[in-house]
Amino acid sequence: MTDIPKNHPRYESLLAREKIVSGVERGITSPQGLTAQGRGEAFDYLIGEKTTDSARHAEMVATALLLLAEKPVISVNGNTAALVPEELVQLSELVGAKLEVNLFHRTPERVKKIADELKKYGATCVLGENAEPLLNLSHERSKVEREGIFAADVVFVPLEDGDRCQALTDLEKLVIAVDLNPLSRTAKTAQVSIVDNITRVVSNMIQMIPELTLQSEDELWEIIGEFDNKAALADAMEEMKEHLFEKQNELLGTTPVEP
Ligand code: ATP
Ligand code: MG
Repeated sequence: MTDIPKNHPRYESLLAREKIVSGVERGITSPQGLTAQGRGEAFDYLIGEKTTDSARHAEMVATALLLLAEKPVISVNGNTAALVPEELVQLSELVGAKLEVNLFHRTPERVKKIADELKKYGATCVLGENAEPLLNLSHERSKVEREGIFAADVVFVPLEDGDRCQALTDLEKLVIAVDLNPLSRTAKTAQVSIVDNITRVVSNMIQMIPELTLQSEDELWEIIGEFDNKAALADAMEEMKEHLFEKQNELLGTTPVEP
């Protein structure tokens, strides 16, 4: 990996790039994953490369849902395996969720490499190698494990494709998506969409667990019940607008005006 000085203003974003490039070189991430990361980065710029209030709230709702789920599964793709493998393993242990490798550009070799990568970080069991075509989608994209995603009540799918997100909700699963683009089909289809960078999301969720476990199940269901995904996406768009106005004012040296 290229050595990036820690004081570089784009340190986090350059580090993420290096991790994705390394993922491609090691056969974990697909070449298409590079462009997906690029699209994500553009939206991250628009929210100010930080976790916004609406994203933090969605992360709390998502964590509560994973804690209450009976059969939660965390779906892992090539980008997330390159960016946050250790955090995904930790989250799965803390909420009692299974890990399943689920790829858009699927090859058996890549599924195995990702499973091995997660095991390197302490995962004891990683599903995905015995996936069968159980979703209503064209062949390779339809593959999930019968005892994993297919049986799950709640599925956490960072960086998912819109069609597959729809196929999961058609099976009446509760889908938690992570997608920096609030306009994407995935963000609109999931029940809980987190508009934040996966590099921040999983560690934020891990930090929320101790406080959430102090609450009763009824209180957690209340937090979940009050969540409105469309309103949350509209809030994310509003935060992008506000950030742009701030930057516009900074650029022109003008007094802030309300959008
Ligand atoms: P859709 O098919 O749902 O309309 P899309 O075609 O834009 O969406 P893809 O390119 O298939 O989506 O998937 C990548 C999505 O993941 C993009 O919306 C991108 O913003 C998001 N993304 C990429 N990298 C990250 C990241 N590090 N954190 C969060 N989201 C990301
Ligand atoms: Mg897509």
